[in-house]
Amino acid sequence: MTSCISQEKIDGLKKLLGNARKVALAGHVHPDGDAIGCITAMGLYLKRELGKDVVCMFPDAIPENLEFVLNPSLRYLWGKSEDADLVILMDCNAFSRTDVLGEALAGSSATKVLIDHHLNPDTASFDLVFSTPDISSASELTFWILKAMGWDMRDNETGEALLTGMTTDTNNFANSVFPSTFTMASELIASGVDRDAVLQKIYFSYRENRVRVMGYMQNEGLVILPGGAAYMILTKDIQKRFDLREGETEGLVNVPLSIGEVRLSLLLKEDKDHFRVSLRSKKGTSAQKCAVKYFNGGGHENAAGGRLYPEKDLRGMSLEEYVKKALLESLK
Ligand code: 5GP
Ligand code: MN
Repeated sequence: MTSCISQEKIDGLKKLLGNARKVALAGHVHPDGDAIGCITAMGLYLKRELGKDVVCMFPDAIPENLEFVLNPSLRYLWGKSEDADLVILMDCNAFSRTDVLGEALAGSSATKVLIDHHLNPDTASFDLVFSTPDISSASELTFWILKAMGWDMRDNETGEALLTGMTTDTNNFANSVFPSTFTMASELIASGVDRDAVLQKIYFSYRENRVRVMGYMQNEGLVILPGGAAYMILTKDIQKRFDLREGETEGLVNVPLSIGEVRLSLLLKEDKDHFRVSLRSKKGTSAQKCAVKYFNGGGHENAAGGRLYPEKDLRGMSLEEYVKKALLESLK
């Protein structure tokens, strides 16, 4: 069990849950497999084993290939929040990461619990905190918390949600894998979770245009800078040309890291008034510091993200000039 889960904290969580009739679970903007997985798993446990009234809240829509994780026995809200006795924020380090939900959640009188694995948790805003960066995913952290709570592992729907979250956050065991991560996977598979079926749904169910846009960006859009940085800019035009939907370029930012000399990779995706930023790095180079310093963001040491607001951030530079400067300075 990871060191951020003490018996004292588990007892604390049991007590808070014992006092709550209704529990709200909330995750970050642009929800990924980990956020959807750990929230769904926690929701199922609270509803089925503890009989709680549960609501799962996300700021916005999820990628189509992850819709299979949503469980029909749970209630999900998109872009709006509901009052509850207890709020559990999962897979993000602060309420601000829940975008449109943030203000209502942070200001509510509910008791607040954090379950997360990002750097810099906003501990002051919570009554109870489970947080460590030394774990694969919030789904793995949730797995160990549920086990400590006495979860009945025969519930394979809960197990499938947790395996999905861990699998997507580790890029199918390619990064952020700890001994405990293999133990979790092993225990879930032994308890009956069908890993092949999970992989089929996550990685082998995309539309054709995903493969085509990935090829196009690698061929036409990839810029490699001397010194070991790479970037790609996915403009609105390209998104339109390939009819892209949410989540269809997931994983693209990782591709340049397969080149030996590339240590830092950036993907900019044009959104309404800003660019969504994804950063990945190899050991020894910090994607997180680059996200904090240049892109209004944060995340993990080697996988981070943020936003770039051209009007505010560029200060007279062109987009490409700014990106090059940010990357080259981050390599130092
Ligand atoms: P992705 O590139 O997959 O969108 O995000 C990579 C990691 O960085 C994820 O763990 C994500 O939660 C985190 N992240 C993405 N955007 C932001 C942001 O704007 N702020 C912070 N603090 N973390 C972010
Ligand atoms: Mn995560």
